[in-house]
Amino acid sequence: MPVYVLGHKSPDTDSVTSAIAFAALQKMLGVDAVPCVQGKLNPETELVLKKFGVSAPELKTDVNGAEYMLVDHSDIKQAPDNWDKGKLLAIVDHHKLGDITTANPILFCAMPVGCTGTVLYTLYKDVYKKSVPANIAGLMMSAILSDTVLFKSATCTPEDKKAAEELAKIAGVQAMMDWGMEMAKAKSSVEGVPPKDLIFRDYKDFNMSGKTVGIGQLELISLSLVNNDLKCALHDEMQKLKVDGNRHSVFLMLTDIMKEGTELMAVTDDPGVVEKAFGQKLVGNVAWLPKVMSRKKQMVPPLEKAFAA
Ligand code: MG
Ligand code: MG
Ligand code: MG
Repeated sequence: MPVYVLGHKSPDTDSVTSAIAFAALQKMLGVDAVPCVQGKLNPETELVLKKFGVSAPELKTDVNGAEYMLVDHSDIKQAPDNWDKGKLLAIVDHHKLGDITTANPILFCAMPVGCTGTVLYTLYKDVYKKSVPANIAGLMMSAILSDTVLFKSATCTPEDKKAAEELAKIAGVQAMMDWGMEMAKAKSSVEGVPPKDLIFRDYKDFNMSGKTVGIGQLELISLSLVNNDLKCALHDEMQKLKVDGNRHSVFLMLTDIMKEGTELMAVTDDPGVVEKAFGQKLVGNVAWLPKVMSRKKQMVPPLEKAFAA
């Protein structure tokens, strides 16, 4: 029976490439591991897989009776719905510790770095002493560029930069930052995409003091890509999502990676949480948050605090 390796729901580049890279490492260790995704790939991830000639992982959302490993998350809300009906063998991650627990001992490797790709590079190089295949190295390097927003995010550490540079060499990529900009452009593409798909392109639900809070993020090379009509359409979809999922709040981060800040759109039962968390009042359902680029480090912790207060 194969062991499935899965990233989180609404897969991002790190989630997809880390499933591939960790499955490849497991194969080197004699485990019949199969990389999987829990949803549709975003345009950036598609570009990355194409560039390094790797095919898309199979879709899998059901782990009933299966052995599986998780990458890039340890939160129940981001795992397959029936996560507790299968046997979890390993977690490799770079987020806050989530709420998944197990009955058996597991391999657990988490580091406070900017990308699961960086953690995996450490596993390849330092823990299992395996060399990274060139195409896998290209994927891991791309994930680091993506998750750290070209090394600009507050989540980026010197380890991420070092890993990306070494992986670029292995992959034979000379102009790493040019490739990063190409990826950023693909990530920014909004034209012709249904608003709902844009919200789910990079979306996570969180449990904050017993309330379900959804946070989506669009990373854009310019905020101007999202015009007012699109903003209205996004707002309508957020409203629906909030009602349908019985959520307390739905937030959408429109992150300008060049200006390095986020326009936060909010649909919430308590607009006061935004002011409590960020010291900024919502004006017409939006607030500009300078320097905020990371959901993990700059959105989730202050919001959790505000919800707990
Ligand atoms: Mg991720
Ligand atoms: Mg990640
Ligand atoms: Mg991200």
